[in-house]
Amino acid sequence: MIAADRVRGVRIDLHTHSSASDGTEPPAAVVRAARDAGLDVVALTDHDTTGGWAAAAAALPAGLTLVPGAELSCGHAGISLHLLAYLFDPGHEGLAEQLARTREDRLPRAREMVRRLAADGYSLTWAAIEAQVARDGTTIGRPHIADALVAAGAVPDRDTAFAGVLNARSPYFVPHYAVDPHEAMRLVTAAGGVVVFAHPRAARRGRIVPDEVIATLAAEGLAGLEVDHRDQDEAARRHLRGLATDLGLVVTGSSDYHGTGKANRLGENTTDPDAYAELVDRARGAVRPLSG
Ligand code: AMP
Ligand code: ZN
Ligand code: FE
Ligand code: FE
Repeated sequence: MIAADRVRGVRIDLHTHSSASDGTEPPAAVVRAARDAGLDVVALTDHDTTGGWAAAAAALPAGLTLVPGAELSCGHAGISLHLLAYLFDPGHEGLAEQLARTREDRLPRAREMVRRLAADGYSLTWAAIEAQVARDGTTIGRPHIADALVAAGAVPDRDTAFAGVLNARSPYFVPHYAVDPHEAMRLVTAAGGVVVFAHPRAARRGRIVPDEVIATLAAEGLAGLEVDHRDQDEAARRHLRGLATDLGLVVTGSSDYHGTGKANRLGENTTDPDAYAELVDRARGAVRPLSG
């Protein structure tokens, strides 16, 4: 079976977003689009929420395997970083509490960013943000503010909004609560899941953590590094491949698909089937990949 899959070329994308956070497509549309893009395995990794899992599972097309996951917003010594968590128990109290706390703190944070922008003459209201959000419980992020700015005609697209007023160096930027990555590692592991460090060298997004932090996380059970990602150039990828070898970490590749909100296309980077198998092996909990 595995051998036949190899011949056919199993296509695995371990990082996508839906409208449960800041993707533009509902979870059901993401899994359908994944199958249409020729993927065999897709992970749904919305920011700080498992809210899209059920709808994605219910709409899973035949031949597609869903890996339930989340992208955890973490903060370490003032640097923001993202950890991809897969196959964890969404009912684990400590982890669910951290996710909820992060989602809740994103509300006053977004309100303050909107207040600062409006005070400076941008035609933005909280209602305009709410109009961009799929439903209650959605993880609210800067992309929703970007979409409201697009709707108001202030900018042509999300990219321009980030380049101008939403990036971390902008005076309009406000941080939100984020869990310490070491605590996140501990919680995801306790919840039976596995962790992959998302785009560790995506320098364009802001400061990156030093390799020593990645080494410490590896000693704490980190399973992999996301190497093939559009925000990392060839030099960054080469460095990360070396680091993964040194630390005994799995290498992944993925799209970080956000629907029409970003140029990223499903399957534009993929993960080797052996790397995927190792991640699934390392997950200890009751949540398993789900086949449609
Ligand atoms: P937040 O989590 O609210 O701080 O917003 C960060 C999210 O914004 C990231 O996870 C990306 O999905 C998105 N983002 C960052 N830069 C850009 C960009 N240039 N264009 C579109 N989306 C972006
Ligand atoms: Zn996002
Ligand atoms: Fe990310
Ligand atoms: Fe992402």
